[in-house]
Amino acid sequence: MKHVVVLGGGIIGLSTAYYLQQSGHRVTVIDKDDFLNNCSYGNAGYVCPSHFVPLASPGIVWKGFKWMFNSLSPFYVQPSLKTALIDWGLKFVRSATAENVERSAVPLRDIAILSKAEYESWTAIPGFEFGYEQKGLLEVFQTENAEEHARHLVEKAHRLGLTDTQLLTGQELQEMEPQTKIISRGAILFNCDAHLYPQKLMHGLIHLLKAGGVNLVPDQPVQKLEKSGKKITKVITSDQVFDADEVVIATGAWSREIAAMADTKISMMPGRGYSIMLENSGYKLNHPAVLVEGRVAITPMDGNKIRFGGTMEVVPTNTPPRYNRITGILNAVKRYYPEFDIAQPSADQIWYGFRPCSADGLPYIGRIKSCENVVVATGHSMLGLSLGAGTGKLVKELINGEKPSMDITPFAVDRFE
Ligand SMILES: Cc1cc2nc3c(=O)[nH]c(=O)nc-3n(C[C@H](O)[C@H](O)[C@H](O)COP(=O)(O)OP(=O)(O)OC[C@H]3O[C@@H](n4cnc5c(N)ncnc54)[C@H](O)[C@@H]3O)c2cc1C
Repeated sequence: MKHVVVLGGGIIGLSTAYYLQQSGHRVTVIDKDDFLNNCSYGNAGYVCPSHFVPLASPGIVWKGFKWMFNSLSPFYVQPSLKTALIDWGLKFVRSATAENVERSAVPLRDIAILSKAEYESWTAIPGFEFGYEQKGLLEVFQTENAEEHARHLVEKAHRLGLTDTQLLTGQELQEMEPQTKIISRGAILFNCDAHLYPQKLMHGLIHLLKAGGVNLVPDQPVQKLEKSGKKITKVITSDQVFDADEVVIATGAWSREIAAMADTKISMMPGRGYSIMLENSGYKLNHPAVLVEGRVAITPMDGNKIRFGGTMEVVPTNTPPRYNRITGILNAVKRYYPEFDIAQPSADQIWYGFRPCSADGLPYIGRIKSCENVVVATGHSMLGLSLGAGTGKLVKELINGEKPSMDITPFAVDRFE
């Protein structure tokens, strides 16, 4: 039995702690905050093998450049001369190619399928209910260009073995949502996808971990990792010191700084997104949907709730929120669902969180060269919730020296070196 210290209590840190505790380790999870609000809470809740195309893909750079001058737009990179952004930006631009999309598809599909199977197995854990539903995901489009793109995506999904993927006409889509008028040309229906209620997932995991004897330590920002030889032996926070046999870096959008404490460089930037929740919605939707041109995610969850989320703002984590991004999200919703009349909410009803964005859209999962007892598990960008349970399982396998459930070389932490 080892003492494993997991840094960060988002979905990646908590699912890692779960698998480690299950395999008999003593586990401590340290967070700078209270575990009750991080990027893993306000997201759209998609568990989605369909998302095999990373953000770094052809066309995104030009689109991003155009959107930078529109405060309601879904994508924004805050210009800065900071080396971290320049390094990430160059790697992102170099990764935004058809070859990267091709290379990423199989690993993204495989880790999503692994993760989804793990979430499914969690639904059998007594008392752990997290709103998991297998209803598929719609990608709704309005333009001819998007329809053409959708055709290619469906063919690609079939080639990747996601054969239960269909192209729907606008009429067929409307039949799936008879209670709500939708303006569209059509949609892709990815039957392989599921969704869940992130709040319930996170609260349930915290409960499960505490019951299993995991030590959850809130309000302790990690400030230093003390090295002896090639190993980190102590984790030093604002007020405490933790001895460690193994350390897992799962600090989400802050992982670049923490990895640097272990003498490792990872190319990562925070990508802020926003969401709002209609708690007791009078509107009725049966299926989660991505509004393709609007870049908005909509999820009916946990009974009568509907969550609307979107925007990718690549900004430092101390940048004040721009609440008018929600206006952009709500405007897009109205273009597709004309009956949805949602007033701009007050600031306290708007959630935002920072996605840990790797430069090429693949996560970083693996051991590092500079310290032999450190595993990095971060950089999941727009897919951290979907890939959370699978990542936790893979980290447990790495720590135990077991054969990983899938090939993790595409996720190597040093792949840009
Ligand atoms: C609007 C929106 C919608 C999204 N929708 C989806 C979706 O539908 N499906 C999907 O798969 N993904 C989605 N995502 C992305 C997903 O939410 C993230 O990828 C995921 O939550 C990242 O999890 P994490 O554990 O890596 O990071 P986090 O959840 O951010 O957790 C990191 C933790 O590390 C802690 N930490 C940081 N620094 C320190 C330190 N120095 N010391 C101690 N602790 C520290 C933080 O306090 C935090 O609790 C969405 C994101 C957004 C913003």
